[in-house]
Amino acid sequence: MMLPAFRGVEAVRGIEGLTNPRGFIIVDKHQRNPTFPNVFALGVCVAIAPTGKTAVPVGVPKTGFMIESMVTAIAHNMDEILAGQSPTHEATWNAFCLADFGDGGVAFVAQPQIPPRNVNWSAEGKWVHLAKVGFEKYFLSKVKRGESEPFYERLALEAMGLKKIKD
Ligand SMILES: Cc1cc2nc3c(=O)[nH]c(=O)nc-3n(C[C@H](O)[C@H](O)[C@H](O)COP(=O)(O)OP(=O)(O)OC[C@H]3O[C@@H](n4cnc5c(N)ncnc54)[C@H](O)[C@@H]3O)c2cc1C
Repeated sequence: MMLPAFRGVEAVRGIEGLTNPRGFIIVDKHQRNPTFPNVFALGVCVAIAPTGKTAVPVGVPKTGFMIESMVTAIAHNMDEILAGQSPTHEATWNAFCLADFGDGGVAFVAQPQIPPRNVNWSAEGKWVHLAKVGFEKYFLSKVKRGESEPFYERLALEAMGLKKIKD
């Protein structure tokens, strides 16, 4: 499958020190822009260097759990900054993903998402599609209740060795 190369949105593209040449936001290990320290970034807009040289240039995939780890680190870091301290929290960038193909899918765990990895696991089947439907219902119901990470979710993830913040 070939996808057109991603690039950052026009609103931020071309701002010296804020974005790279593709328009993605440059961040340090605390998800903070080095030139504009009041700017934090997470998600697909973040600049991540390619992991290696390939015949066709490819970007690094960014998935939901990895992005949740970024926002968790940012929330803790802002808390520290507001308390007059330096930010210390770093996101794990772990990937825990149910990729839905409509009638089937692939589940994978990549810890961390950027190699070298400690865990590299995947499985496929119709169960992934059903799991994704179930996850969507669970996710929307917890967000509607205003909860981002109920304690049972955190316990279940920790039991699988999946953390959002580096120790
Ligand atoms: C086809 C596809 C399938 C995927 N499947 C999976 C999956 O199964 N599991 C998984 O974990 N991840 C999956 N991903 C990746 C995941 O969906 C994305 O990484 C994630 O949604 C990115 O979240 P984000 O908040 O960073 O960006 P987005 O979800 O893209 O949100 C950015 C928002 O900013 C808005 N915006 C843009 N420009 C402006 C502007 N100038 N002003 C104001 N708003 C603006 C956009 O409208 C958009 O709503 C998939 C991605 C794609 C494309």
